[in-house]
Amino acid sequence: MTRAFYIGRFQPYHNGHQYVLEKIAGTADAIVIGVGSAQLSHEKENPFTAGERILMITESLKDIRVPLYVIPIEDIKRNALWVAHVRSMVPPFDIIYSSNPLVMRLFSEEGIPVRSPAMYARELHSGTEIRRRILKGEQWENLVPAPVSEIISEIGGVERIRQIARNDCDVTESSGGHSL
Ligand code: ATP
Ligand code: MG
Repeated sequence: MTRAFYIGRFQPYHNGHQYVLEKIAGTADAIVIGVGSAQLSHEKENPFTAGERILMITESLKDIRVPLYVIPIEDIKRNALWVAHVRSMVPPFDIIYSSNPLVMRLFSEEGIPVRSPAMYARELHSGTEIRRRILKGEQWENLVPAPVSEIISEIGGVERIRQIARNDCDVTESSGGHSL
């Protein structure tokens, strides 16, 4: 029985994550997914809540053949203790899949086997690039699984990203501001 662990912020969940998780599902007996920086939302770099991200992941992996556990994990600002914090929150796992250098380092220092999956067209499939495209009004829907673009539409995610990126001085009376 191999339980694999995968962690990310998933701001948002995209086709690169989906590609890796479908591969992992071919070898592991169960997958544990940690949704990192779970306490953050409504920020330019972290627009979506943990609950919204959990929905994106579970809807996109509805047909996966292995049991899936999706667990929110809040930040603790102590890297040296972070692996213990993560392990205290999720089901036991045997191996972690990550390509994030800090995550790889912290888990391998604790003696946990780390596998680093190949990147899936990384220049396009990165949360940073997708958030940039959403903000600029460029095409992004093709970079995420269909349920993710539906969820982002349902929660008004595009407007949220654009609104929180504005400066105070961008608010005019015609965009809902009041003259005081
Ligand atoms: P951001 O740009 O906001 O950091 P991200 O695309 O790196 O977003 P994360 O949630 O930070 O996504 O990453 C979760 C995991 O997914 C990490 O291990 C990361 O290396 C991996 N990952 C990200 N993009 C890809 C990709 N295109 N192909 C394969 N793995 C990826
Ligand atoms: Mg990243």
